[in-house]
Amino acid sequence: MLGGCKKAPTANAKGEVRGIVFMVSDGMSNGVLTMAENFSQIVRKKGTRWWELINDPLSARGLMENSSANSYVTDSAAASSAWGGGVKINNGVVNIRPDGTESTPILRHLKKLGRRTGLVTTATITHATPAGFAAVTRNRDDEHLIAPQYFGVVDLLMGGGKNFFAAEKRIDSRDALTPYTKAGYELIENRDALLKSKSDKMLGLFSGSHIPFEVDRLNNPELMKSIPTLEEMSGVALKNLLGHQEKFLLQIEGGRIDHGAHANDIAGLLWDQLAFDDTLAKVLELIAGRDDILVIVTSDHGNANPGLNGTGKEYTDSNKAFGKIAQMTCSFEKLFEDWGRSPENTAEKLAAIVYDRLGFSLTEKQTAELYNSMTTGEVSEWSEQLDNPHGLLGQMTGNHTGIGWTGTSHTSDPTMISAIGPQAERFSGIVPNQEVHRHFLELLG
Ligand SMILES: [Zn+2]
Repeated sequence: MLGGCKKAPTANAKGEVRGIVFMVSDGMSNGVLTMAENFSQIVRKKGTRWWELINDPLSARGLMENSSANSYVTDSAAASSAWGGGVKINNGVVNIRPDGTESTPILRHLKKLGRRTGLVTTATITHATPAGFAAVTRNRDDEHLIAPQYFGVVDLLMGGGKNFFAAEKRIDSRDALTPYTKAGYELIENRDALLKSKSDKMLGLFSGSHIPFEVDRLNNPELMKSIPTLEEMSGVALKNLLGHQEKFLLQIEGGRIDHGAHANDIAGLLWDQLAFDDTLAKVLELIAGRDDILVIVTSDHGNANPGLNGTGKEYTDSNKAFGKIAQMTCSFEKLFEDWGRSPENTAEKLAAIVYDRLGFSLTEKQTAELYNSMTTGEVSEWSEQLDNPHGLLGQMTGNHTGIGWTGTSHTSDPTMISAIGPQAERFSGIVPNQEVHRHFLELLG
């Protein structure tokens, strides 16, 4: 099944690891794998690389157990801190244990040992998942406190979040950019500059906040020109790391899959999942034929557990319903933003914009309910798990696409792991998330 399988990454006899690429599809519930496979077949006439990898006899498969210290349901900060710091901690915190002591994040350990390090994401670079590998802070939302902590710890930084570095945007008005540029980091702010860069220290900041959803990037030629894809950022980072002798750890995060799930936005979620999958394909292509690079692909937690329901007689309407997702041209985030900005932000305008971007008509009652939720914050009381405009629109969309959601928040489900390369078997079976740290240290320490 594996195309060009002679070239697939393998493991050397001694199991020595030169580098680890740790890939996170943030907030990816297990049902997303199948939907992404089907969606990819519809919009690109080919399957996904992750699907193929699971079917590769050389790959290890497992489940990540991802509870936090204070909940069966983890948030990204506790999950990434478990991987990065080796201890389960409370939700909302980055690498500080419940007893108040600090854990040392993995990239700080590795940097002291002279290893090379990288963080790449489509969220802000100071968001919880990258931060868990390199920062320590009481509150994950203090992204302005995380921004200076990568200095001297992470060689390659790429993502969004310029607002947490630039003095004019930071809440304390301090300049967190100059220390990086003075120390030789190249500040990179657009796609062309990234693709040309040969720097060994990069601070790539491609957006003030998160990088736009892939579905919005694909439908905006200007964004296509100026903002790199996750695949492009990751390709630049991995080529750079492979070009040096030092061992390395690179974390790559598809950060907005989680945001699509929180918003119950199936088009937003699936297009970002495909962008993540393109990135996996690129990573495997770059290490093809090598036997010293370990690639791990997983998620930090489920989110809203989307799934395609059987619809119609004998469920024969499901395929057609699912196919409608391919016609959608924007994320819920952009839809609501554009409606909010339009001079006539009326209920009628809301229905019109939903019809234009998502391809279906809201009933009068639905329009009134959604408009009410947008303008007053009042919600339908039938499900408190879905009681916000995104949850409402997600349910209304589900009437046409067949997609259902458990809520608008993270879930306790274990997440999938695939691993290939030397020592991949460490990631089979059930892997408690805090064990990942020990593996990193044993393999690269
Ligand atoms: Zn997460």
